[in-house]
Formats: sequence, structure tokens, C-alpha cells
Amino acid sequence: MFTEEDDRLIAERFAALMEACQHILHTDKDKAFLVDAFTFANRAHYGVRRRSGEPYIVHPLAVATIIAKEIGLGLKSIAASLLHDVVEDTDYTLEDIASRFGDKVAAMVDGLTKIKQVGDLAYSTSEQAENFRKMLYTLSDDVRVMIIKLADRLHNMRTLQSMPKEKQMKIVGETISIYAPLAHRLGLYAIKSELEDLSLKYSFPEDYKMIADKLAETAAGRKRFIDKFTAPVIEKLNDSEIKYQIYGREKTIYSIWKKMQRKQITIDEVYDLFAVRIVFEPVLYVPEKSQCWHIYSLITDIYKPKPDRIRDWVNIPKANGYEALHCTVMGPDGVWVEVQIRSTRMDEIAERGFAAHWKYKSGTNGEIQEKELDQWLREVRDALNRSTDDAVEFLDEFKLTLYASEIVVFTPKGETRTLPQGATALDFAYYIHSKVGNHAIGAKVNHKTVSIFSPIQSGDQVEILTSKTAEPKVEWLDHVVTAKAKQHIKYYIKKQQDNNIARGIEIFNEELAKHGVTPIARVFRKVVPAYGCKTKDEFYSKVGAGIISLDNLGRILKENTAQKLIKYWTFQVSNTIRKLGSGGGGKGGDGEEDIPEHDDQIFRVAECCYPIPGDEVIGFKEKDGTVTVHKKNCSVALDLAAKHGDRIVQTQWSSQKEISYLCHIRLKGMDRVGILLDVSQIITAQLGVNIRKLYIESHDAIFEGYISLYVRDIKDLNDLIAQVRKVKGVESVQRVESIQEVTI
Ligand code: MN
Repeated sequence: MFTEEDDRLIAERFAALMEACQHILHTDKDKAFLVDAFTFANRAHYGVRRRSGEPYIVHPLAVATIIAKEIGLGLKSIAASLLHDVVEDTDYTLEDIASRFGDKVAAMVDGLTKIKQVGDLAYSTSEQAENFRKMLYTLSDDVRVMIIKLADRLHNMRTLQSMPKEKQMKIVGETISIYAPLAHRLGLYAIKSELEDLSLKYSFPEDYKMIADKLAETAAGRKRFIDKFTAPVIEKLNDSEIKYQIYGREKTIYSIWKKMQRKQITIDEVYDLFAVRIVFEPVLYVPEKSQCWHIYSLITDIYKPKPDRIRDWVNIPKANGYEALHCTVMGPDGVWVEVQIRSTRMDEIAERGFAAHWKYKSGTNGEIQEKELDQWLREVRDALNRSTDDAVEFLDEFKLTLYASEIVVFTPKGETRTLPQGATALDFAYYIHSKVGNHAIGAKVNHKTVSIFSPIQSGDQVEILTSKTAEPKVEWLDHVVTAKAKQHIKYYIKKQQDNNIARGIEIFNEELAKHGVTPIARVFRKVVPAYGCKTKDEFYSKVGAGIISLDNLGRILKENTAQKLIKYWTFQVSNTIRKLGSGGGGKGGDGEEDIPEHDDQIFRVAECCYPIPGDEVIGFKEKDGTVTVHKKNCSVALDLAAKHGDRIVQTQWSSQKEISYLCHIRLKGMDRVGILLDVSQIITAQLGVNIRKLYIESHDAIFEGYISLYVRDIKDLNDLIAQVRKVKGVESVQRVESIQEVTI
């Protein structure tokens, strides 16, 4: 049985796991769940030792710690890691686990148990791909199973020395052919490298030792070289106020060994034993891509780059999500040095794979992360279900679903294109080329014709159908998600608008000329709103685009003229009033000479009270010399008279009758069908009065409305009011100075 020392070791390792889980143990419930999983596993494996002599539970504890600390999965995965060997190696069943830890954890443990059985089957190299597929199928219920299996394998590789030789070889073979590539596909670089190095250590121990020794031997010289190389780079980076880490990064022993094998060279001939890595903290609001290239330019100011050795995985990340900018430069002493430039985010994704990717996508909320994880798992499962016989094709599809935020689609030629999740066929069209986007009329997705607005999915093959006459419309903007598509659509529309404005100016000026009118500001004040436009540019561009036809321009211009007459009417100044106003009378009949000549004076009807002939009026001289005429009892006029008595001009109506004046009436009554028609007929047909605006609002069987109309004088208006009052249902008709709302 276990000694006190064994128990102390177990307690120590569990404490380390708890420590690694601190950031995900949000509640006491979380903590209790983890303690429970450990207690259960510990009891199940209690008294059993590994081949190394350690208590068996040390292994599940180590796997759980890798899952928590090195990969970053959640609590359920950590529990499943602790329990992963329980069903296979002890008397506890899956049901025991399900009832205690829930179906999800039990399903993961089930998958891990099954894979152990698949792994026990022998297979030849030619069958490996197919077996791998089968294995993943077995595990496809939950991708976390694969990841836990990787952690399990990593710990077994770390402790491989206690295994018998022939078992070591089988495990190493699987590791190099299955697990290291899987880690690579999942973007778990640190784990992939470690698995490869450990595999080499056991399969070619002499080679491994030789390379390791050589690296140790040359370490001091390398460090001096790296210091020499980085010194001027550090200076430049500091000058640019970039926050960064810079360090030499040795190539893995396995990758050096691979290169020696491939090129049939000795280790002394491998020149790139290390790379210099710069990991910078990106500043806000500047694309990380630009920051990478900025650092690149700082370095190449110092060292000449090797032109054909730039690897831009920032613009086009590797299929497994790896992002970085790699370049090779001529360092001191004529030595080529590879430099890897990454942001802290890129670095974490490179080292920890998609687990880090989630972190950057969804913040720290555990629940959201669980949801995203489930979504990702569903997509992997769908991909697994879609795949048919070809194992290799399946692997390709598998990697497509690693990043839920992106989709990868195929061109008709079979080339892949990466687009954001939610992209439509139109996004794809613009991704191919702006000309393709601008002339898109439809798409063929997997050989089926669909609308260009159709969303596309990972794995779809997309072909865009175009037509020379097609062109972008404003509503296209609602159906694209990529910045590129939006930018091109906006640009096209803007350009088109500019063209339309130019064409509109030409057309409008021509039309105006036909009517003998010049395009002055007053014309626009009337014409632009008459066509329902807010600005001159809008008006021009609509004319240019053919949306507005100028067929009725003549009528609108005439209306204008009529309005102009109303506003600029010549009043006669009353001599008698003037005379009284000038006081005295000593000059007698000569007084006429004192009267200024008012015949050319411009008068204007005030828009606060709309006086009409017959109203008592008063005029005020404006700064521009015109006179504004108010009703005498208008509140604005009273105010002006009090403050600016010097500007008062006495006025009275002339006897001209052919001019109409704008005025407003308000009516109220009981709503009934046809009342509006009756009222307007009386006004227009019976009285021959021109209605300008009519606004009726009806609620709870009561109507209230305003009518703006043109009358010649107050007698006309009073007659009209009397007539309208007679209409059945109308209860009150009143002249008002202004209307509150005009919508017609
Ligand atoms: Mn295990």
C-alpha cells in the first residue's frame, strides 16, 4: 500500500493542479467539482503504481495539469483528464462517472477509453492514415477527447524511460506519425516540438545526444553572437517606443536533425541553428500587420534582408492559424539570421493553439467560452460527418474548422480563400477582384445557382456569375461583411454619384435655359424641395441618374414665379398717413415733395401672420431696404414696433386685384367619409381658390386640419370661411396666422 511519502507526493501534485486552475475556479461549486473529480480518481487508482514506481494517480494529475496550464481548456476537460484511465483500469464504470460528473465528462472519458483500445491495434504504415481517420471518428463526439489524448501522450513521452524498449518503439512510432501531426494541426506548437524531440531521443539516441551536446557546446558563442546581433535592433526598437521582448530561439533538436537528414549535411553545415524572435505588445488602433512591417523595416535598416526569404504569415496565416512575419537578414560576420516578428497575441496562439485563440475572441467569461467551444465542436463534428472515404481529404476538411471565426472556401479552380464567418457570395466576389464584385449578378455554390447575397460556408466551392451591365447598389452594403467589399461598393457608388452630379448639372442647365431662367440660388430654393430633395447635390445626382425627370420643370418654375409675386408685392404708401405722421402742415401743398418715392419699394408679406388685403397692416424696413408687412395686431409686429419704432413704414393695400395671397385656415369637426372631398371641392371648384397645402388629422371620430390657400383679399377669405362652415360635419373654421404642421 501507499506510504506517507506517497500521500504527500499526491497531495503536492494536486495542489499544483489547483494552482494551475486558479483562473477558472470562479465559484465554490467549481472548486468542489474539481476536488470531487480528484478524490474519485484517487480512490479508484489508490494503491496502484506506475511502472516508474510512482502512485498511478500522478499520471492523471499530470495530464490534467497539462490541459489546464499548457493548453488552457475548461473545468470539464480537466475533470475528464483526471478520470481518463478510471474506466479502462479500475472497477468503476462509465455510469458511475455519468451519475457523478454528468454526461459530458462521461462522454469524454468514454472516448478516451475507446481510443486506448484502438491504439492497442497494430497497423502498418500504409494503413496509418485510414487508422487515424477511424481513430478520430471514434473520438468525434468531442474534440476535447483528442486534445486530452494528446496531453496523455505528452506525459507518457515525458516518462518513457521507465517503459520496456519494445513498448517505447511502438509509442514513439505512433507519436511521430499521429500525435505530433495532430498537435501541429491544432496549432499546439510547443507540444508538437516536445513530442518530436522526445521521439528522436528514444528512436535515435546517439543523434539526439550529438545534436544536444553540440548545441550546449556552442551555446556561449551563440549567446555572444545573438547579443551582438540584437544590440542595434534593441536600440532602434527603444527609439521607436515599442514594447517588446527579443530573444534567440534555438531550433528544436528534431528540426535540426530533419534538416541534416534531408540535405545530407553535418551539424556544422546547418547555419540556422537559431532564430531571433521579437514579440511586441501591439499599440491600439494600428493594425498588427502594419506594426510587424514597421519592425521589419527597422531591422532591415540595420541588416540587409535576403529577398527570397520573407515569409508573410500575417497577411495569409497558415491553415492552422499560425501568424508571424519571418525574414532572413545578413547579420554580423556574414551570417544569415532568421528573424521572427510576432505580436503577443500571435505568439500566444502559436504556442497554445486555438485555446489561446478563444481567449482573444471571447474575453474571460467562462460561460461564453463554453458556448464557443460547443459551437466549434459542432463544426468539427459536421466536418467529420461530411467527409467520405478519402482520409486525406477528411484531414483537410478537419483543419478548415479549427477556427470558427473564419471560413475557407474554394475557387472554381480549387484554390482556397479564407473569409470571415458570415461572408456572402458577394464578399467572395470582391475578394477575387473588385471588377468581379462590381459586375456580380449571381453565384454558383457547389454548382447550384444562388443569389449573390447568399451566405457561404466553409468547404463551399463558389463561382461568381457576372454581367457587364450589373453594377453595385446601395443596398448591397447590407449584404456584405468584409471591409474590402464595403469599401469597393462605397467607392463605386461615390464615383457614380460624382458622375451623375456632373451629368445632372449639364441636363438641368440645359432645361433651365429652355425656360429662359438662370441657375441662381432662388431657383434652387424652390426646385430642390419641389423634387423631394434635401441638397443640391442630391438633386443633381438624381437628375443625372435619371431618377428625376424634368418634364414638369416649367410648371414648377411658374409656381415659383407666382410665389415670388406674392412675396414681393408693391404696396402703395398712404400719403395721408404719411402727412399726418410727418407732423406740422406749414408747408401745405408742398408737402408732397417730402414724400419719398415708394413705387419701386420692395415689400414682403411677413411669414408669421400672412396678412391679406383688407387686413390692417404695418411695415418694417429691413436692413436690405425691403419692407416686411405684418398684420397690425401680429405679436411679432408689436414687438418690433416697441423696439424699432424708427423702422416703421406706414403702408396700405393697393387696389390691384389680380394678385393672390397665401393664408391659412384651421377647421375642426366630426369625421365622416367624404368630408375632405366636400371641403376641398367647395374651396377649389365653387370658389375657384387655389389650395396650396392641406393637412387633416383624424382621431376618435374628430378631425382637425389646416388648409393653406391663395385668396385675393379678406372678403374672399371671409366668403370662403362662411361656405366651408356650411359643410356637413364641419364645426369650426378659423383663420390662423400659421400652421403647425404641413405634410402635403
Ligand atoms: Mn493515460
